[in-house]
Amino acid sequence: MTRVAALREATAAAGIDALLLTPGPDLRYVTGYDALPLERLTCLVVPSAGEAFMVVPRLELPAAEHSPAARLGVEFLPWNETDDPYSLVAGRIGQVATVGLADRMWAMQSLRFRSVLPGAEQVLAGSVLRELRMRKSPAEVAALREAGAAIDAVHAQVPGFLKAGRTEREVGKDIAEAIIAAGHVTVDFVIVGSGPNGASPHHELSDRVIQAGDPVVVDIGGQMPSGYCSDSTRVYSVGEPPADFAAYYEVLRRAQDAACEAVRPGVSCESIDSAAREMIADAGYGEHFIHRTGHGIGLETHEEPYIVSGNTEPLAPGFAFSVEPGIYLSGRHGARIEDILVCTETGGERLNDRPRDLVVV
Ligand code: ZN
Ligand code: ZN
Ligand code: ZN
Repeated sequence: MTRVAALREATAAAGIDALLLTPGPDLRYVTGYDALPLERLTCLVVPSAGEAFMVVPRLELPAAEHSPAARLGVEFLPWNETDDPYSLVAGRIGQVATVGLADRMWAMQSLRFRSVLPGAEQVLAGSVLRELRMRKSPAEVAALREAGAAIDAVHAQVPGFLKAGRTEREVGKDIAEAIIAAGHVTVDFVIVGSGPNGASPHHELSDRVIQAGDPVVVDIGGQMPSGYCSDSTRVYSVGEPPADFAAYYEVLRRAQDAACEAVRPGVSCESIDSAAREMIADAGYGEHFIHRTGHGIGLETHEEPYIVSGNTEPLAPGFAFSVEPGIYLSGRHGARIEDILVCTETGGERLNDRPRDLVVV
C-alpha cells in the first residue's frame, strides 16, 4: 500500500473529510516531494473518499513532475498566476465538515482555506500523520543510520578543531564545513558551548575564546539528501577538566546508559525519561537537568514521540528518538550526552557510536 493510500484510510478512520498538505515534512513524507515553501499554493489534497490530487502553481509544475510525487498516480492540477487555488480546492472537495491542515501550514494559507471552506472545522493533520511517521520503515531506519554515521564522522574530527585560544565561532565554522563534507545537504545547528556557555543547552556560537581546562559541549546535526536528520552531542575537555565537572560527568554517563538500556517495545516514553532523571536526581543534580530526555527524529530534527514525563505512549519497533540527558551548572559549565536510538523488537539500537567517555584534547 502506498503512503497516500495508507493516509486516506487513516484520514477516514479519524473522521476527517480531507487532509490539506502544503510543503513541509508531512508532504515530503507522503509524496517524496521536497517542494519549495512559497506564498503560491502547492497543496496535496487527500480526501477520505475519492482520489488524492495536488494543486501546483503552473511555474512549479516542472519541479513537481520531476519529483517522486509524479510516480504516485496523483493528479496534478496546475493553476495560473491569476487563478484562485483555494477556490480550486474547495470546488473539488465541496463544503466538507472537517479538514486536517499540515502542522506547518502558513497562517496566511490556513486563513484562506477558512474563508473558502467556512463550514469546515480545521484540525491538525499531525493527528493522523503522527502514527505513520513515528513508526519508521526499514528504509527510514537505514536513512537515519546513514545520518548517524555521517555525524559520527564529524565528531571524530572535533578534537582536531578544539584548541585553547580559538573562539567557539572559529571551531563552529570548521564543524559546519565537516558536516557538509560528511554528506549532509544542510547544517541545521552547531552548538559549541565552552566553559560557562556549556550551561546553556541551546547556546550555539559566540566569540568566546576557549581556555585551557574548559569542558566544551558540542551538539551538531544536519539533513541528509534523503531528508532524514542527524543530531548528536559529545562533551570534550580542552586539557584536564575541573574536578567538580568530572564528578557529575560520570553521573551523566551512567544515566544516559541507563535510559538507552531501558528502551524496548511496550515501555512508555516517560519511563525512558525517568530512567535517566532518577539517577541524576539520586546523585543530587536533579534541579540541574532542565529539559526532557529526548525527542523523536526523522524528516524533522524534533518530532514525535517526545521522551518526557507525561507521555505514556508505549514505544514500538521503528520508533526513533534521541536520548540526551544533561546537567547544567549555571555560570560554571555543563554537559549533555546525546545518541539517536531506534526501538527494535528486542531493545534499543544506538545509531551513534562515538565514545561517550569525556574526550580530553
Ligand atoms: Zn535541543
Ligand atoms: Zn542535539
Ligand atoms: Zn536532540
